[in-house]
Amino acid sequence: MEKITLGRSGLVVPRNGFGALPIQRISDADAVRLIRRALDGGMYYFDTARFYTDSEAKLGEALEGRRGEVIISTKTGATTAEGFWKDLATSLSLLRTDYVDLYQFHNPSFCPKPGDGSGLYEAMQEAVRQGKVRHIGITNHRQRVAIEAIESGLYETLQYPFSYLASEADLDIVERTRKAGMGFIAMKGLSGGLITHSAVAYAFLAQYPHVAPIWGIQKESELDEWLSYQDNPPALTDEMRAVIEKDRKELSGDFCRGCGYCQPCPAGIQIQDCNRMSLFLRRAPHSVYLTEEWLHEMEKIDGCLHCNHCVEHCPYGLDTPNLLVRNKEDFMEFWRNRPQ
Ligand code: SF4
Ligand code: SF4
Repeated sequence: MEKITLGRSGLVVPRNGFGALPIQRISDADAVRLIRRALDGGMYYFDTARFYTDSEAKLGEALEGRRGEVIISTKTGATTAEGFWKDLATSLSLLRTDYVDLYQFHNPSFCPKPGDGSGLYEAMQEAVRQGKVRHIGITNHRQRVAIEAIESGLYETLQYPFSYLASEADLDIVERTRKAGMGFIAMKGLSGGLITHSAVAYAFLAQYPHVAPIWGIQKESELDEWLSYQDNPPALTDEMRAVIEKDRKELSGDFCRGCGYCQPCPAGIQIQDCNRMSLFLRRAPHSVYLTEEWLHEMEKIDGCLHCNHCVEHCPYGLDTPNLLVRNKEDFMEFWRNRPQ
């Protein structure tokens, strides 16, 4: 199994990390079984967040008695020192541990630094002094904040979206972390479900020795796929390069990454899914999406209040309300022509 050192943190993780966001959607028993199977198969690095509802609690239950075998990272989205301590106490309690290997600021809109008035970085340093946090990281979807975090020298790791659909600017961030001796944790390696070739996704990221991907896993079949790559890591072939080229052409430009930072939508629109409907309909079996349930979700787009909340919060600067309308039109075209 290939291992990666997360920069100057010195944490050594398997190339396959377990992203624990999707386990929110499965039962406690299924999540516990999945996590234990992953660990038994050698996936001993788990990434979660306070924001992922019951993900930490499920990990805590599954990893009880096995703390010494695993590396756990979690995240706080707190904007004040008080919120930071509250989040950390909750995470430690739910994870059933007295320390977090890597604690990350979760997609902040600015790069926390000592003396910036927020008190966040000072709280993080104090948590390290108290032994509750071993290493300091930051996650972000914004290139500006990512670059500031790298240049600050204050962070041991950066978690950032990285897949074979990455732009030149994203590749520049990967290279900057390498030069800065930081660990790079790659989220969205499947670009939120748009990339359907996991072996190609794996092989592409494996070209970057300091990049540690975490894969969101919710099903046994997904876990099996990633585990199978541990002993037989896929290497890039000409056929895979052709898939990458094709996908890059198809998915270039401004497309929704499904990050969900535009939520909550006051009109109840599932923006992160509805905004990718055109792509889903072309890249997945139609039957999955041409259902009454999805019709109902897509119809909510008509109720958009044009409040601009999504536009103001999208780290990719998308014109979300207009993209939604285009996706709805496309969906309706497929819906009218669906096989009866
Ligand atoms: S502009 Fe429309 S889609 Fe965006 S958050 Fe407001 S109501 Fe929701
Ligand atoms: S519209 Fe923007 S913020 Fe919302 S899910 Fe898509 S990429 Fe993320």
